[in-house]
Order: sequence, then C-alpha cells, then structure tokens
Amino acid sequence: MQVVRTRADLRAVLAGARRPVGLVPTMGWLHAGHVSLVERARAESATVVMSIFVNPRQFGEARDFEQYPRNEARDLAMAEAAGVDVVFAPGVEEVYPPGFDTVVSVGAIARPLEGAARPGHFDGVATVVAILFALVGAERAYFGAKDYQQVAVIRRMALDLALPTEVVPCPTVREPDGLALSSRNARLSADGRARAAVLHRALTVGGDRIRAGERSADAVREAVARVLGEEAAASVDYVSAADPDTLAELHEIDGRALLSLAVRIEGVRLIDNELVG
Ligand code: AMP
Repeated sequence: MQVVRTRADLRAVLAGARRPVGLVPTMGWLHAGHVSLVERARAESATVVMSIFVNPRQFGEARDFEQYPRNEARDLAMAEAAGVDVVFAPGVEEVYPPGFDTVVSVGAIARPLEGAARPGHFDGVATVVAILFALVGAERAYFGAKDYQQVAVIRRMALDLALPTEVVPCPTVREPDGLALSSRNARLSADGRARAAVLHRALTVGGDRIRAGERSADAVREAVARVLGEEAAASVDYVSAADPDTLAELHEIDGRALLSLAVRIEGVRLIDNELVG
C-alpha cells in the first residue's frame, strides 16, 4: 500500500495504475462501515484508492472539527488490511492551496435536512469530493447510505458537472443493537453509546408503521419522535419522512419514504435513516 500526501504524488502514482480505479473517500477513524466500502471497491476495481482527510470546509463549528477523532497509524493499518492500494492523506493546504477560491454548491437537494441543520455543510462536501474526483479520475466512487442526502448531493453534482466517476451507494453497516457505525460514536461514553441505540429503534418503529399501511406522514414522524422522546439523553434535531428522490417532506405516504433523523447524545450529533418501500 502506498501513502501519498500531495496532489502531484497522487497523480504520479495513479498515472500507471491498473484500471478500473475505485475511490473510497473518508475522514478517517476507520470502522467496519468504511471497510465495507473498500470491500465493494475491491471486488469491482483493479486499484483501490482511499482518501483520508478531515475536511474543515464541511464543519460548521470549529469545535466539531477539532474534536473529530483522528488516528492515522491505526487508519493506515486498517486500510492496508482491507486491501487498499493507495491512501491519499493530504494536509489542508494541499487540498486547498493558497488562493483557493472555488465552491461547488448543489441546489435544492442539498437544502433540507442536513443542509438546513448545517449551513454550508454540503458546499464543503461537494467541493472536496469534486477535487477528489478530479485528482483520482476513478471509474467509480463508493459512499455509504448512512449519509443518504450526501449520496444524493454528490450524484446530482456528478451528473450536472459531467464528472466521469460513477457514484455507488453502499448499505449502512450497523452494530448488533442497530446503531449505525460512525466515527463519532467514539466520542460517546459507554452509557451514551448504549442509549444511542434509540436512533435505529425509532426508525424501525416508523418503518413498521408505514409497512403496516400508515399513510399519514405526520403520524409516522410523531411515532418516531415519541420513541426518541422516551430516551431522556437524546435531544432531537429533526425527524423527517420525506420523498426519497426530492427529500421534500411528505404529507401522505404512498408506500415509499425516506425516514431520517438527527439527534444529539452527550453533545455528539448522530444521524441515521431508513429507506422504506
Ligand atoms: P466519513 O469518514 O464519516 O466521512 O465516511 C466516509 C464514507 O463512509 C461515507 O461515504 C459514509 O457514508 C460511509 N460510512 C460511514 N458510516 C458508515 C456505515 N455505518 N456503513 C456504511 N458506510 C458508512
């Protein structure tokens, strides 16, 4: 496995790479969710590239950026064990060189949910992913469905800007109690970690209501919120039942819905979703 830190070295290493190339963008603190993306990329690519970069432009609060867990030595060992060929682990000034002054801003699909809760977040995501797509020139890039809206935003961007990298969504990997794996889980105490299972429990209750024939989106959102409300440690940011294609909130559910939520536990902001139907 090669580790490169500059745009120039990345291009040089990839110039002779066997194709197709698969890209897995990450912010590090790797877990089994990231590994599942690498496994999918490995199965479909001759060369697997992983980026490890905590992107300051997608964090609103400086504290959130600073507190994001980091351990490069551990990440490199995990990446190598998972079968990554090339890790791109640049510094901030390598991704955003002096004078950097371009923003990729996706429209309507980036506005609700995470876009509303975290102003500027998706501009940061789209900008860094556009740079990674340009640098790596991968045939495919792999993203987790845990960040459903992120996948939708990146797809829109790739389509609109005619970027030649295909966006491949991959299923969410969960703990046995249903909690979606996330680097942020590392910031929870053992007690908070146990309580965080409420996110998936609440989504399952909402999903079950829809599968049982409930058509009122309000009733579903209320059912999800009720389960979250039973966990005193959970402070709810939003609960949504939206159209899976537009992410607009639904009034009536016709079998298909994206249930999603954002919750803070011990000050750690966690998100999850379930696609129903
Ligand atoms: P992050 O390092 O959190 O920015 O995530 C990097 C990639 O891994 C993104 O495409 C995420 O959607 C994906 N990812 C994060 N958590 C999971 C998970 N539990 N299951 C599958 N993919 C995940």
